[in-house]
Amino acid sequence: MTDLLIRNCDILSHPQNRTGFLTNQDIAISGNRISAIESTGHIQSEDAQRVLEARGLLAIPGLINTHAHVPMVLFRGLVEDVPITAWFNDYIWPLESNLTAEDVYWGALLGLAEMIEAGVTHVADHYFYMDQVAQAVERAGMRANLAWAVFGHEGVEVLDQTCQFIERWQGAAGGRITTWLGTHAPYSTGPEFLRLSAERAQEMKVGIHTHVSETAQQVELSLNEHGITPVQMLAETGVLEVPTILAHCLYPSEEDFKLLAGSPCGIAHAPKTYLKLGMGTAPLKKFKEAGIPVGLATDGAVSSNTLDIIEQLRLMVLAQKDAASDSTVMTVAEALDITFHGSAQVMDSARDLGDIQVGKLADIALLRQDGMHTFPRYDPGVGLVYASRAADVHTVICDGKLLMLDGELLTIDKAMVKREVSKRLDRLGERVPGRRIATYPA
Ligand SMILES: [Zn+2]
Repeated sequence: MTDLLIRNCDILSHPQNRTGFLTNQDIAISGNRISAIESTGHIQSEDAQRVLEARGLLAIPGLINTHAHVPMVLFRGLVEDVPITAWFNDYIWPLESNLTAEDVYWGALLGLAEMIEAGVTHVADHYFYMDQVAQAVERAGMRANLAWAVFGHEGVEVLDQTCQFIERWQGAAGGRITTWLGTHAPYSTGPEFLRLSAERAQEMKVGIHTHVSETAQQVELSLNEHGITPVQMLAETGVLEVPTILAHCLYPSEEDFKLLAGSPCGIAHAPKTYLKLGMGTAPLKKFKEAGIPVGLATDGAVSSNTLDIIEQLRLMVLAQKDAASDSTVMTVAEALDITFHGSAQVMDSARDLGDIQVGKLADIALLRQDGMHTFPRYDPGVGLVYASRAADVHTVICDGKLLMLDGELLTIDKAMVKREVSKRLDRLGERVPGRRIATYPA
């Protein structure tokens, strides 16, 4: 029984790091999975509950955002052109002390709406008041891996609270929500807190989503204080023994590569943040050589301004070529492999996501291909990396359900979200001297 038949689309498929492009295909979805892919006309449309005519549209796997702080869209555009220490201590952490649970709910819906419009169907979110984020995800219809961000100064009791959150929401929204631990970063928690987090993750059979080695200074600080790198600290405390999303990891040592290579971790790569904050760029070629998965991420919208994965994809390629002064590094095929397969691996979901194949979960974005900026179209992979825009996204399906159809969001009332966010802005933008949720080490 076919619940949804996407008829006569083109498909960008990407098995084993080889971009394939199929024209005039029908995709049948039964329940939440892809049940058949055939040349147009070979699947009986009379048997389908619903038929979506998709002639001229390009089907790509739903985009995956491997590291975000989605509700930070509430502060979008408030902090620009400042050094990273001031970015945290004078802006982000004072501003975040203004947040209430309800603010986070509306911020999450705003960010989820933006992502659906940009073809993103799965996000790893790392934030506070995560019950509200989970409620927003449930309503939006997206898939999410949710981690409640915690700091060492909150005391180890806070781990009990996040474990309760994990139990409340694990497998919720028909399996679309998974929950992991969200230990903030080695520099903000210290080794003992990391050790306890790893123990809890083992007990609960969940992963950990954390930040690591974002700047050379963080690595230096760790060496001075603990005699080991932040990655070594993750290894020694057991964090790298469970599936782990490592946000950023721009400055791994030679030794760190070996530790990462043998672990079930993946790197979340968010180049727009690195470029804007002048942080440098991650050694993606060396991660690839070491077999360490890398996926794309937006980070929070205060540093990256958008939650647009297509934009991050383009910036990743350009930044890698520029950093190497070599136009041959980060090919189109490699970039697409990171975008789809790599991101699914980082989310520990490569079995179910990252490609349009029979048996995979039905997370699909359909892109228009008739824009002047993508014509002529010799190679849709090249178009996606170097020319496509989020605005080309036409229709979005997650877990077999339509979330956007021909540019219209079906699960979120955009006007209501804008109204709710607008009435909070004056209060949210205030910075009270001395009030902040954490302190970035100078
Ligand atoms: Zn982050």
